[in-house]
Amino acid sequence: MIPFLDLKKINEPYETAFQEKLKLVLHNGWYILGKEVETFEKTFAEYCKTDYCIGVGNGFDALVLIFKGYIQLGKLQKGDEVIVPANTFIASILAILQADLVPVLVEPKLETYNINPDLVQEKITSKTKAILVVHLYGQLAEMEKINEIAEKNNLIIVEDSAQSHGAISNLKSKINNLQSSAAYSFYPGKNLGCLGDGGAITTNDPELAKVLFSLRNYGSQQKYYNEYIGVNSRLDEIQAAFLNLKLPNLDADNDKRRAIAKRYLAEIKNEKIMFPFWDFSENHVFHLFVIRTQNREALQDYLMQNDIQTVIHYPVPPHKQKAFSTETLGWNNLSFPITEKIHNEILSLPISPVLTDSEVSFVIEIINKY
Ligand SMILES: *Cc1c(COP(=O)(O)O)cnc(C)c1O
Repeated sequence: MIPFLDLKKINEPYETAFQEKLKLVLHNGWYILGKEVETFEKTFAEYCKTDYCIGVGNGFDALVLIFKGYIQLGKLQKGDEVIVPANTFIASILAILQADLVPVLVEPKLETYNINPDLVQEKITSKTKAILVVHLYGQLAEMEKINEIAEKNNLIIVEDSAQSHGAISNLKSKINNLQSSAAYSFYPGKNLGCLGDGGAITTNDPELAKVLFSLRNYGSQQKYYNEYIGVNSRLDEIQAAFLNLKLPNLDADNDKRRAIAKRYLAEIKNEKIMFPFWDFSENHVFHLFVIRTQNREALQDYLMQNDIQTVIHYPVPPHKQKAFSTETLGWNNLSFPITEKIHNEILSLPISPVLTDSEVSFVIEIINKY
């Protein structure tokens, strides 16, 4: 059986080192916002070539806190509109709502699954103040065009980088795009994942960073003195310790993912399968390898019968979710044909740094026989 994702196998190599770290943290007696979080924030900022990294509780909070930070700084206001791709993972949209902002959905491109920059301008109103770019499945969105639109319309760009750790922009040879701020998740299945929940924000904006360091910790920098109405969303010390062990291998892991993607693209020869577009640069870290096919349930069943596990990311588009029916946003009758087509046709093949060459060969062989 080839599992879609073998987290045990991914984390096994760190077992001994992690046990030692755990002992160290235990004996040191400082369990919240200690040395491990501080080290991670420093090294992840260096890795991303940003001035600041703020460790937070999870990827969702990272997004919410960025928006709340901009509200605190007066750069966003409650009720402002935020452009977001219609086919994103629901967390992106929920984060906008959680910050009392208004999500405005824009269709993606069928070939990349990322937001279609040509459709952004027509959705911009006098209330539009930000674009939440999602680098979906690990591939950076078309940032050249998006940066241009943002500049022209004076919009803040926030990046949902929860699936794109380490993706390098063709424009700036920088990690992701980083115009203003990026949100990361270290949920176990992500390209850089911990053993529970974890997240981070990166930014070059000193004012935003200052507010965020405070907002994540009850709005307080100095204990028991509260400057802002904050929350409790701190990166856990033990999770940070684990991330410190894994971060040095992130680039090598991403290389392995790209190597598998190259094999799939070159060796899968079946007219029923449609591939995602990729320019073969390092702007894609293949968090997921997502193909399209008509009648994808048949393919998924066939692969399962051959001991290959696949997953659908995601089966229901956000605007069709019950959570957004008439009682709330009234989105269910909206029409986003490209988004709906994608959600009907996509299937994620196994891809991970621990997938072996022979397992990849087997997946290819079985798909070619379909
Ligand atoms: C995983 C993910 C999130 C949320 O991260 P959590 O750590 O699970 O809160 C947000 N956006 C996208 C695109 C994600 O894939």
